[in-house]
Amino acid sequence: MDTIIPFLRNNSFADFAKRLVSEFVSFPCPACLKNMPGDSSGFCSECLDRLPLVKNPVCRGCGAENDGIFEVCEKCLKEEKRKWRKAVALMRMEDYGRELIHRFKYKNDTALARPFGKIAAELLRKSRIKPDFIVPVPLHWTRTFTRGYNQSRVLCQIVSGETGIPVRTVLKRVKRTPKQANLSGIQRRKNLEGAFSVTDGEICRNGVILLVDDVLTTGSTLTAASSALLEYGAKEINILILARG
Ligand SMILES: [Zn+2]
Ligand SMILES: [Zn+2]
Repeated sequence: MDTIIPFLRNNSFADFAKRLVSEFVSFPCPACLKNMPGDSSGFCSECLDRLPLVKNPVCRGCGAENDGIFEVCEKCLKEEKRKWRKAVALMRMEDYGRELIHRFKYKNDTALARPFGKIAAELLRKSRIKPDFIVPVPLHWTRTFTRGYNQSRVLCQIVSGETGIPVRTVLKRVKRTPKQANLSGIQRRKNLEGAFSVTDGEICRNGVILLVDDVLTTGSTLTAASSALLEYGAKEINILILARG
């Protein structure tokens, strides 16, 4: 009590309550599940250290680390011209980053959306991209049905909560495409022709849009989604991804 009474006199009750919570309550880190003090909305410091976060300079075509000689990286130079102005990526697709994305995407580990979303929101602030709204890249309904969720949409909701930028689900995946992993860039693009439709063209007109997906590999999915939005008069597309594949 001797320590608490002077503390109460000098601080607001909110500060006192906050300190009390951080001293006596701990939450598991969403990634390693070890208890950490304070709130549960971010990664613990050990997990943050292990994450292969992207360092500057970055490629504006895919958000990955770049040597800074050209505006776009070597991989992007080989791809068709990007339909977006700028891409922002959180991590390199390696080690712990790859493991967490796999859990987030396929293992129902949606608790990872919050810490990822917080990092994404911070990157977005630094990028000076000022989107009118955020659009998740949709899955075909059969895939959402079997997986139970669309990871991009879950991520968008957190980014929206952190930044105040609204989510608009104006894209619909109308064509189910086979797994793209073993296909060439040309085959991927061909598969994705007409894969997306826009459900509300009026909202898109003249809009600055942030399109969100988990991983960018060749960029064909994001290109097809961007094309659909641009056809409806979107003014500018920017991309946010967890990692460049
Ligand atoms: Zn952790
Ligand atoms: Zn690139």
